[in-house]
Amino acid sequence: MSKIRRVSGISWRLFGMLTLFVVLTLIVIWTFQVALLNRFYESSKLDEFRQTDDEIFYVSDNAELLQRVVYRRSIETDSCIRVFKITESSPIEIANSEANTNCLIHSADREEIRQLCETAFEKGGNYTRRISNSVGGSNVIVTIRAAAHEGADGSQYVVIQESALLPLNATVTTLEHQFGWIMCILIMGALIMALLLSRLICLPMERMSRSARRLAKGEYDAEFFGGGYREAEELADALNYAASELAKNDNLQKELVANISHDLRTPLTMIKGYGEVMRDIPGESTPENMQVIIDETERLSELVNDMLDLSKIRAGTRKPEIETFDLTEAIGAVMLRYEKFTEKEEYSISFEKNESIFVNADRTMILQVVYNLVNNALNYTGDDKSVTISQVVKGNKVRVSVTDTGVGIAPEDIPYIWDRYYKVDKVHKRAMVGTGLGLSIVKGILESHGAAYGVESVIGEGSTFWFELEAIYDGNFEE
Ligand code: ADP
Repeated sequence: MSKIRRVSGISWRLFGMLTLFVVLTLIVIWTFQVALLNRFYESSKLDEFRQTDDEIFYVSDNAELLQRVVYRRSIETDSCIRVFKITESSPIEIANSEANTNCLIHSADREEIRQLCETAFEKGGNYTRRISNSVGGSNVIVTIRAAAHEGADGSQYVVIQESALLPLNATVTTLEHQFGWIMCILIMGALIMALLLSRLICLPMERMSRSARRLAKGEYDAEFFGGGYREAEELADALNYAASELAKNDNLQKELVANISHDLRTPLTMIKGYGEVMRDIPGESTPENMQVIIDETERLSELVNDMLDLSKIRAGTRKPEIETFDLTEAIGAVMLRYEKFTEKEEYSISFEKNESIFVNADRTMILQVVYNLVNNALNYTGDDKSVTISQVVKGNKVRVSVTDTGVGIAPEDIPYIWDRYYKVDKVHKRAMVGTGLGLSIVKGILESHGAAYGVESVIGEGSTFWFELEAIYDGNFEE
């Protein structure tokens, strides 16, 4: 049983993330548009005041020009401006412009103006303050700045400017109201987006998990569709591949049962039959009959050994024990094992080599490879009953090939012959019984050695199975 973990669905996660994003965005916008708007506006106003100061001080000795500058700046910056020349008795106004009829600086009396000028001098040149002004019954915040400076003619001047922050406060209040609505609309939008997105993402996943459940039940025709997204398509491809491999494996397993039971039954029937004959018919307990029983028992144990070998190689419990050995001599030893068989069955096995060579490998395993390849070649070779083993040294590689003149293998079968239990025609022809495991043992051993291997085959002409190992020249062997 699979464990079901309680985790929140993708739509809720998406909704959570989108809502968080919306809230963060709104906070940033609110901070700049609402909380800091007055500050930004005020500081830009003060910048404008400073520019006005500079322009005015520059032309302060030219009354006509001064009045024009004051008037222009007053319109440009929407502020009231008064310019005073400081004399010993009191400040004398030399220019002014009124953008707003209710401004505080124009309604200030002489004393208030004198005090403002003094404060500007005391504060080292300029003085800014924010104060509330009552206009038509409502309070308005205004910024007043008094700047003192020495003019172009050497006299002291003070520029007083005033600008209201009123329109901004109204904007801020409107924005604050709107923010509530914007927040609700965006969160609703986030919810809808999350539902739509999660449907788009989840739909292919749900379909795939349905197919996966079918696959788990052994329905290998289950198909996976990605739904048009690269990641989902890749997952679907991987699952389709897994499904096809599982189907292939399942077929091979079924064939195994058929093959193995066939392979086990034949010798068992023989053993039983001969045993019964020897028991029931006097004079049949001959050495020949006993030999049949012994041969069949050998076939059985060969089959069992092959299965064990393959499972060990595949499980990785049988690792190559690397040693340096004489490959040429070892192949010669394999050929000796076939001597009796070839004599009796009139087969000919020839061994061609250009030199003797040593290799670093697991001797027993490599001999098993050669043995399995020769067994197959004897099984499948043509009517001339000949098999050739060749050993060619090229550079630092030695290639061992086993060639027969038999049926050959169709190109479409070649990729599969290395699979477990794969048989091209499913029938054994000769006495050298195969278990359907031979080539997968060869493949397992050669891959565990990191050796290259392959087969070249032409239908009706024969096959050459080959593998390559690293050659070792130690110079001490006999040619
Ligand atoms: P088997 O016991 O059936 O020979 P193997 O794993 O050794 O099992 O070989 C797998 C299949 O590859 C064989 O059933 C046969 O169809 C094909 N095959 C192997 N060697 C040869 C060969 N020398 N010539 C033709 N077909 C071969």
